Amino acid sequence: MTFNNGKLHMSLNCPKCSSDHVRKRNTAMKTGAVIGATGGAISGFSGALAGAEMGALAGALAGPVGIPIGGIGGAVFGALIVGTAGCITGSRIGGIVDQEVLDNYCCVNCDYTFNNRS
Ligand SMILES: [Zn+2]
Repeated sequence: MTFNNGKLHMSLNCPKCSSDHVRKRNTAMKTGAVIGATGGAISGFSGALAGAEMGALAGALAGPVGIPIGGIGGAVFGALIVGTAGCITGSRIGGIVDQEVLDNYCCVNCDYTFNNRS
């Protein structure tokens, strides 16, 4: 294991042609992030409603003008938090799928896909 350009680099060789030009695919990680973000955005809607309620309550303390401002701020905040959490969860699950299920490595030299599970 060596450090390459500041990134952790696993020195792997292609089992077919022994080339060390191997790249990580992270297919499921990317897909998972998209699915997670989409699911997060949908559930973020309920987060937005809860945030809007809390924001409106907090805004009400500042007076009648504070209610819509607090409501909008709370809605954006709620949706953002839940959406981001969904994206992170999705990419984490995807990362596990990449590692455990899929062939996560691809040889640049001969296009052979493989994994490094021993
Ligand atoms: Zn190869």
